[in-house]
Amino acid sequence: MNKPFADKLRKIASYVPGEQPQCAGRIKLNANENPYPPSPRVAAALRDFDAATLAFYPDANAHRLKNALAAQNGLKASQVFVGNGSDDVLALAFQSFFCSDQPILYPDITYSFYPVWCGLFRVPYETVPLGADFRVNPRAFDRRSGGVLLPNPNAPTGIGEPLALLEDILRHNADCVVIIDEAYVDFGAESAVSLLPKYENLLIVQTASKSRSLAGLRVGWAFGSETLIGTLEAVKNSYNSYTLDAVAIEAAAASVEDDAYFRKTCKQVMDTREASAEALRALGFSILPSQANFLFATHPQKNAAELFEALRAQNIFVRYFDLPRIDNYLRITVGTDAQMARLTDALKTILS
Ligand code: PMP
Repeated sequence: MNKPFADKLRKIASYVPGEQPQCAGRIKLNANENPYPPSPRVAAALRDFDAATLAFYPDANAHRLKNALAAQNGLKASQVFVGNGSDDVLALAFQSFFCSDQPILYPDITYSFYPVWCGLFRVPYETVPLGADFRVNPRAFDRRSGGVLLPNPNAPTGIGEPLALLEDILRHNADCVVIIDEAYVDFGAESAVSLLPKYENLLIVQTASKSRSLAGLRVGWAFGSETLIGTLEAVKNSYNSYTLDAVAIEAAAASVEDDAYFRKTCKQVMDTREASAEALRALGFSILPSQANFLFATHPQKNAAELFEALRAQNIFVRYFDLPRIDNYLRITVGTDAQMARLTDALKTILS
């Protein structure tokens, strides 16, 4: 760039989200979205929304949503933080809690946004190697650090770790903030919410994007002690007081209040996940045990990058990461039964 101000501009390698292909008839299994629509109560809330109220700023504290989340999780509203998707909540958590000179720790195979935030906010980090089976060794986190960050279930493996392992890590890391990213927890893993009364340094981050079918609304939240939530609020209010708009607050609260629909759709996704894993195993794939709404699959004879391209040519979109240790895996979001049948049929043809 031959411009006199160029050396003063920020240079950064940014996160690359899964592509959003618009072609008709596409099967989109690449961004861990939910194949079912959100609760009918969300549609009703949007229909009943009074556009005249948009003339005013929204409730900066999003009381309606915080109260719904607090009631559902047996917490006080002062233990709940809400944001514009869990990416926003995590980015604010990085700025609020990872402020020491010591590196933060997270697994070597994990959500690829973490190193991007480390770069953006200049947070030093070290990765902790997962075992050959992609499982977490809690002892590997037993060292002085600026913080611990662990998705549970992990992405893109889908593997969920038991509560006892999370508590073991918390017990050995009392002098820093431990963030558990529970973006996928509702598809069969154990939430760490029950550990909150014991660990003031625990922050749990969740999202409405996956289990609540609201990726397009951009709503996420965190649960923690009043000390952690108060710090997040102070940092948010030093940056943008209104990260959640009035429509998002109403629609997300309506979703949280419909527990029956939430349970029904999560169960449907989990049932389809198990049936799809069986069908893929029958085609020769190895599938990691998943407690998420996606499968991480590898084929001993076929190159994953080639499978990815061959599926793409048929308008079936899955995710491929050209990264060490996982460059022969496909991450396949669980869709409807019909979409998964299309996927396995296509793979059968490609493999034959
Ligand atoms: N954490 C993990 C592990 C994820 O995979 C994602 C989805 N890309 C997120 C957080 C962010 O989701 P959202 O911003 O839609 O809440």
